Amino acid sequence: MSDNPFFSPSTLAYELPPFAGIREEHYRPAFERGMAEQLAEAAAIAADPEPPTFANTVVALERSGALLRRVKVVFENQDASDTTPGVQELDAEISPLLAAHDDAIDLDPALFARVDALHRDRAGLGLDAESLRLLERRHTAFVRAGARLDEAQQQRLREINAQLAADSAAFRKNVHTDTLARALVLDSAEELDGLSADAVAAAGANAEALGHPGRYVLSLKNFSNQSELARLTDRSVRERLLAASLGRARDTNGPLAARMAALRAERAALLGHDTHAAYVVADETAGTPAAVDGLLARLVGPAVANAEREAAELAAAAAADGIAELAAHDWAFYAEKVRAAKYDLDTAALRPYFELERVLHDGVFHAAGLVYGLTFTERPDLVAYHPDARVFEVFEADGSPLGLFVGDFFARESKRGGAWMNELVSQSRLLDKRPVVVNNLNIAKPAAGEPALLTWDEVRTLFHEFGHALHGLFSDVTYPRFAGTEVPRDFVEFPSQVNEMWMVRPEVLANYARHHLTGEPLPAELVERMAAAENFGQGFRTVEYLAAALLDWAWHTVPAGQEIGDAEEFEAAALAGAGLAVAAIPPRYRTAYFNHVFSGGYSAGYYAYIWSEVLDADTVEWFGGNGLDVRASGERFRAELLSRGGSREAMECVRAVLGREPEVGPLLARRGLNRP
Ligand SMILES: [Zn+2]
Repeated sequence: MSDNPFFSPSTLAYELPPFAGIREEHYRPAFERGMAEQLAEAAAIAADPEPPTFANTVVALERSGALLRRVKVVFENQDASDTTPGVQELDAEISPLLAAHDDAIDLDPALFARVDALHRDRAGLGLDAESLRLLERRHTAFVRAGARLDEAQQQRLREINAQLAADSAAFRKNVHTDTLARALVLDSAEELDGLSADAVAAAGANAEALGHPGRYVLSLKNFSNQSELARLTDRSVRERLLAASLGRARDTNGPLAARMAALRAERAALLGHDTHAAYVVADETAGTPAAVDGLLARLVGPAVANAEREAAELAAAAAADGIAELAAHDWAFYAEKVRAAKYDLDTAALRPYFELERVLHDGVFHAAGLVYGLTFTERPDLVAYHPDARVFEVFEADGSPLGLFVGDFFARESKRGGAWMNELVSQSRLLDKRPVVVNNLNIAKPAAGEPALLTWDEVRTLFHEFGHALHGLFSDVTYPRFAGTEVPRDFVEFPSQVNEMWMVRPEVLANYARHHLTGEPLPAELVERMAAAENFGQGFRTVEYLAAALLDWAWHTVPAGQEIGDAEEFEAAALAGAGLAVAAIPPRYRTAYFNHVFSGGYSAGYYAYIWSEVLDADTVEWFGGNGLDVRASGERFRAELLSRGGSREAMECVRAVLGREPEVGPLLARRGLNRP
């Protein structure tokens, strides 16, 4: 095993992991040795005969675990982007061990005693601002992990953490398996009436690949609502497709979610909080559950009223087709019809103007050039983890190298649904590392030689995820704990949402939105109609999102010891209780496939998207009206916020950019929520 590529640092540019040499059998020994090494490092720090200093304790902890970090990022990346049964099995096995490993460090009394002593004396240590913050954050992390609890409590905490880690791994595996299993298999092309010829051909190829030759398969995508629902004219097919989506993993993950919520509540109580939500937001910019409740409560009423106005319009269109009652599987279909009639806008006709390579180079990269002066060069000589994952080197305005950007845009069976950014190498001056960041999307892969034409939503996703990428790339901190996106959960979506603004700025849109065959720009009158239609569907989108956010919130505001019972009944009661049981609008995710909160880091945190959007909407206005040109605004946003990562308090960064407190008005206007 001396040839295990994880055992020594990568020698590739930017320490890009040596993917070409990594095989599945390397993971387990690397995890084992990585955990053992970090435990030995932590034990040495704890047993140091010297009195604790910032350097020999807090900085030493930051340096520890190098091998474990290397294997973990690559493994998690593969599990998300190109998983295999072997990787999923190892994930299930290793997740509880990793949780126990973290506990072994966080609950080590000798280690905490050293950090605690330093924390008490922190004012007199002569630390610079980032170092002082590191000491405070490290101390808080120990306390939040249970360092102050007695031995029996800590033992129970260890059990809970191990169980939750195992449950999370099982949950995401169930979602993955059942999402594949519930793909809708259809016998004839007639049943796909309404879809484009390309989409029908893709469904045929999909069936062929999945062992159903001569038939058609619609694979399920991440959200409750499936994109084909807007086009399929056969109502019964729409109904079956949505039912397949909404029923995902209900039998396996419903009980699992209920158990996880109960365990999280018990853990919160052990740690001195009323609920898991209270425990989580105490460390977020929101601070208290009341602050989150306040924002959500302010949005629900107007959003539902908007959705009801939309529903009335759609119901009228459906009635013309003889449909007496608008069902959830009819919503997208009639929304598309009404949009076409009202705004003369056929969204499918836009796609030829949004070809992936053009949107990427002449849109996303071009905007990063205008705003931040960046340039990009593809590096085909650097190999990523899958043939579809491409590596780009990123350069500053003065030509100096900044980092690597890996773009992995196409869907495949081995990839998790949705879109996300992750880091393969996090920037830190202490460890002398420059950033390597990844963006994943799930765009349907075109046949060989064909262009990938995007929907408007996919264009948005590309800009959004690249906003996260910039947060990672611009990171300029000393300590790895503060790198890039290591900010509060209810803050991390803010930079990515801000980056969406560039997709519609005239100078950017005109540069990338060109017909893929003729090169003609998107006609100006089409742009105008798109702008006019912008607010159409906000009712649906806001309700769909809020339903998921409040569902997450309901699961995690259950007090310890309270009986939860059946997951689907809990879900129905939670939505009704929040005033969000709009029959024709299912939540963006139902409980049983809500990976964000039951297997990702968003438990009691899905509210973060709209919380961040308050800052986003306000910042977009700031970019447009601060008297600075775009490049100068970009520099300020980068210097005061993006480059800081978690090294400075998040809201302090916002105030440094805006020069004032943020306001909620721009969000309400954007989402059409400020009507009387
Ligand atoms: Zn995001």
